[in-house]
Amino acid sequence: MKEIKKIAVLTSGGDSPGMNAAIRAVVRTGINEGYEMVGSIRGYHGLISGEIVPLHSRSVSNIIQRGGTILKSARCKAFYEKEERKKAYEKMQTIGIDALVVIGGDGTFTGAKLFGKEYGIPIVGLPGTIDNDLYGTDFTIGYDTAINTVMEAVDKLRDTAYSHDRLFIIEVMGRDAGFIALRSGIATGAEIILVPESPTYIDEMLYKLEKDWKKNKTSGIIIVSEGDDSGGAMEVEREINEHFPDFETRVSILGHIQRGGSPSAMDRVLASTLGNAAIMTIKDGVSGVMLGMVDNEVELTSFEKSIKHHQHIDLELLDMARVLAI
Ligand code: ATP
Repeated sequence: MKEIKKIAVLTSGGDSPGMNAAIRAVVRTGINEGYEMVGSIRGYHGLISGEIVPLHSRSVSNIIQRGGTILKSARCKAFYEKEERKKAYEKMQTIGIDALVVIGGDGTFTGAKLFGKEYGIPIVGLPGTIDNDLYGTDFTIGYDTAINTVMEAVDKLRDTAYSHDRLFIIEVMGRDAGFIALRSGIATGAEIILVPESPTYIDEMLYKLEKDWKKNKTSGIIIVSEGDDSGGAMEVEREINEHFPDFETRVSILGHIQRGGSPSAMDRVLASTLGNAAIMTIKDGVSGVMLGMVDNEVELTSFEKSIKHHQHIDLELLDMARVLAI
């Protein structure tokens, strides 16, 4: 295998809090191990366009606490094309980049797997997404911060819900996975949690609301994943209004505030640990893997496996949440 001298790091797909902490750890560990470090701007775009910046120890000062990504992120359509990936490879050859660390979700790893196979480039991945749906890690970088952001928002909404005897229906991110809804729902004591992994029976939901009302629960919180089969918060509100015209309901769609903000301590430590391990993995000659944290240990999972499988929510926690909301 070719000797590795220069390593590029990039962030791709949706941004998540902690990506900067991961970049910092990758860059500083790389420098400590004697590598030259560079960053590709806007994910795979930078590789194709040659927008590559040198990264020194000081380039990553004062970023551990910042949300978003200093390298910017993008959904790079061009990288799906074989011809464009060839351009990226040629640019990498010209610049002298020997290996890559990619931070993103399963789309990012799909691109990395293809690219690595086509050109034999050493590539390792770090799980950077708020959704927590990646196989091969207990937690993804950004998930803990996102839950805390949702929790703070719901706490505020509950003040109004209680004061005005209202039912708030709050939609959170999660097109395919209910991790954010489930964990933030437990943390805020939500009366009802609706997730894509479990079918939503509107009758059951209405029955619970009626029961709560009779038990003098005059306010409440329903947390809905955007990908839930109910159709989302607006649809849930419509059903409730149709059956219980006396209930005062409000919808709040939290949207992109869930993706931003200063990362939590947990996300900073996770990103730092995995960023450090990414360089050591490349140094060990291992490629084509995502690094994750499983039972508090760093674990490697092939891109193939991490793409093919998904992490599933613990449905027992959903049952527990129901008990705690009686
Ligand atoms: P998120 O969790 O935020 O969706 P992601 O990494 O899954 O993150 P995607 O937009 O799916 O986000 O993928 C990021 C980028 O990875 C794409 O814009 C594209 O550049 C590259 N990519 C994804 N799938 C492929 C593929 N099949 N072939 C080549 N490149 C791909």
